[in-house]
This record gives sequence, C-alpha cells and structure tokens, in this order.
Amino acid sequence: MANKFQMPRGTQDIMGEDVSLWLQVEDIIRKECEKYGYQEIRTPVFEHTEVFKFQNDSSDMVTKEMYTFTDSGERSLTLRPEGTKGIVRAFVEHKMYGNTAEFPYKLFYMGPMFRYERPQKGRYRQFHQFGVEAIGAKSPLLDAETIALGYDITRKMGIKSVQILINTLGDDESRDRYRTALKDHFRPYLPELCEDCRRRFEMNPLRILDCKVDREHPSFASAPVSQDYLNDSSREYFDRVLKALDDLGIPYVIDNRLVRGLDYYSNTVFEAVPVDAQGQQAAVFAGGQYDGLVEHYGGGQLPGVGFGMGLERMISLAREEGGIAPEVRETDAYVISMGNVGSYALKATQMLRDEGLKAETDYQGRSLKAQFKASDRVRAKVLVIIGEDEYKNNQVVIKNTESKEQFTADFDKLVETVKGIVGK
Ligand code: ATP
Ligand code: MG
Repeated sequence: MANKFQMPRGTQDIMGEDVSLWLQVEDIIRKECEKYGYQEIRTPVFEHTEVFKFQNDSSDMVTKEMYTFTDSGERSLTLRPEGTKGIVRAFVEHKMYGNTAEFPYKLFYMGPMFRYERPQKGRYRQFHQFGVEAIGAKSPLLDAETIALGYDITRKMGIKSVQILINTLGDDESRDRYRTALKDHFRPYLPELCEDCRRRFEMNPLRILDCKVDREHPSFASAPVSQDYLNDSSREYFDRVLKALDDLGIPYVIDNRLVRGLDYYSNTVFEAVPVDAQGQQAAVFAGGQYDGLVEHYGGGQLPGVGFGMGLERMISLAREEGGIAPEVRETDAYVISMGNVGSYALKATQMLRDEGLKAETDYQGRSLKAQFKASDRVRAKVLVIIGEDEYKNNQVVIKNTESKEQFTADFDKLVETVKGIVGK
C-alpha cells in the first residue's frame, strides 16, 4: 500500500532553487500579458461539476480525467481540469458581456489544474496552466495575435525549438459536412477501432482523429481532411489567419489532422510543439477559436479565442535549451555574534533589512565555525561580526568576503558601509 505521508501520484513538491524558475516564468508571462492588454482573473479551483461537464462531451478530459467529489452539502464539485470553462462561466456570471466597449475582453489565468491521467514526463495529475481568452470578437487578426502571444512567451523563455501547427475546422456548416464525411469514412472500420472511437463516432467523429490508441490504424492515413470541406467564407477566414502569421513572421506548419481535444472549437485550431517532439506528450500550448461556449453558460452568442499553456512542459523545455536557469541564493550580509551580546546582532540585522538589504543572522549561539558555514551557505557578501568588545564600544567588525578585507566600524555606520560594499 502506498505511504500516505508521501505526495499523491502525479503531484510534485516544487521547492528549493526550482521555485526561482517558476517565479521567472510567471514574471515573463505577466509582462507579456500586460503588453497585449490581458488582465488577470482568478477563478475558484473547484466549480460545480456542471461547469465542466457538458452533455455529449466526448473528450477524455471530461469522461475519464476529472476529479469529481461530493461535498458535505451533497453538491457535486470538480477540481478544474482546464481554465477556459471557469473563465467563461465567470465572464457570464459577472455580465462582462454587457461591457461591449471592452471587446475583445482579454483575460488571462495561471494556476493549478487537475486531471486523473497516467503520470509520466510532462504529464501530471496536478499541473499548472497559464492561459488566455479573448472574448467578444472574432477575427483572423485576433486569432493570429493570440498565437503570437503564445509564441512570444516561448521565445522570451529562451525556447527556440517550438513550431506552431495550425488547422481550421471551419464554421458550423463546414464542420457538419466534414463530420458526415468522417462518419462515412470510418463506418466500415468501426469494429476494428477502440471502444472510445466507437463512442466518438456517435458523439463527435472529429475526435476520432485525436485518438492515441488507433492512430496507426490504416484508416487514419486515408481519412478525409477538414480543408476539403470548407465553405468559401471559412477558407477565406483561414487564409487571412495564415497571411497575418506570415506578416508577423511567425513560422507555422499546416497540420490537416489537428482537431484538438475540446468539443467547442470551430475555425482556427493550433498547437505549439517542439520540433523534434516524439510521441504526443509534447504540446506546450494549444488552443483555438470557439463560438458556442459563452452561449452555453447563458451569455448570448459571443465568440472567443484562447489557448492553454502547460508550465511544467515550458519550464523543462526552457531548461533543456538553456533559456532559464535556477537563480542561486545570495545574501548581502550575515551577522555573526560571539559571546553575550544580547539582541545586538538581531538589531543590526533588522537595520540592514530596513534599508532593503538581504540579511541573516544566528539565533542559537552556535560556534563561530558553524556561523561561518551558515554565511557561506547563503553566499553572504559581507560578514558583520559582533563580539562582546564591539558590543560594549558600539562597534562592529565588517568583512568583505570577496576581497577578504576586514575592519572595525561604528555601529551607526553599519548600513552605509555594507551598502557601499554590496553596491546598493
Ligand atoms: P495532451 O494531448 O498532451 O493530453 P490536451 O489536449 O489534453 O494535451 P489541453 O487541454 O489543450 O491539453 O491543455 C493545454 C496544455 O496544458 C497542453 O498543451 C499541455 O502543455 C498542458 N497539459 C495538459 N494536460 C497536462 C498534464 N496532465 N500534465 C502537464 N501538462 C498538461
Ligand atoms: Mg490530455
């Protein structure tokens, strides 16, 4: 039996220097979002199950991967498996749809998501997503800008290997035609396909193309592609998205088989994958344009476009490519005390902190050797040494750990002197 005092399968403790990677990534994301006019929204980590579970939703995420539980008030709640649905729920609940001057309403989110999946590299049960939604406008330009934002963030993180795969599902009419074509194509092969595909066949045949079990089945290679079923306006829309990407200098590859998981996408769908990606664990961000979602929550017929980005995958890729590195811990000053100096050392430490310096001290009357070791561990640039003589004379001994220079200074001059040495 699993040890109950260990983290649950598929979760991680993020700690030590790794935290600095997360802070860097979050910082890059916030700055980029600000440039593009996105505002942060923080929705609950759990919602009523109905927010996530649509009738006829055939996605693995909804049918197999949700963490759903009943609370003590007999409500069915679900830990959010993705960001979009909660955001659109909030958009409608707070009547943001009335604020048409703000359209497209640009919202971003960042935080933990939960899916019951088989854990492996880049796939966890608790993972972190950043994502954006631009709601209330529909335009090839907005689709292209959304892709540009995701792409910019990968570049800012020092990831060079990411490629944008793009496809279009077309509008309702085009998608209906495509669905019919897919059904006609797959019908004879149904007995050979997996149980999920047989279910998808009835609920949303587009999703068969997303199947990870049957993808090598010969019927997949010969399946019809969405491009062949577009009506004129859908084709023109897609061409304008591609033209905008060309103008912005964003490299992409058209992938006729890209359909994307969630059922509410229409028109543009995209995925960013590392160029040498092997297998399907690789997409770092993915999204698309959607039409019916706001209406689903009771907010009228408003379109949207967005993506979700997996931060664990982004961080590991950025590290592999040398884009970001953990920051080493540094301290400006470590205050060492010897003998009976009361709270004099702590007072010195606080004075340094008050002036914006990073300062540490000893609390346990440890040996000199132990305190030197501690100051090394936090990479202190300056040592402030206080013994009983210094205490009596209102002085401190200051040592520059780099030049090894050491001298005595008045207590009043402590902050000024340390600042001078660390250059702050
Ligand atoms: P996949 O095909 O890899 O299962 P998905 O289609 O389920 O992906 P989305 O729902 O589009 O993924 O989520 C957007 C992004 O979130 C993905 O591109 C990926 O980077 C990340 N992501 C999704 N599921 C996980 C997970 N279980 N662990 C870590 N990251 C994930
Ligand atoms: Mg998935």
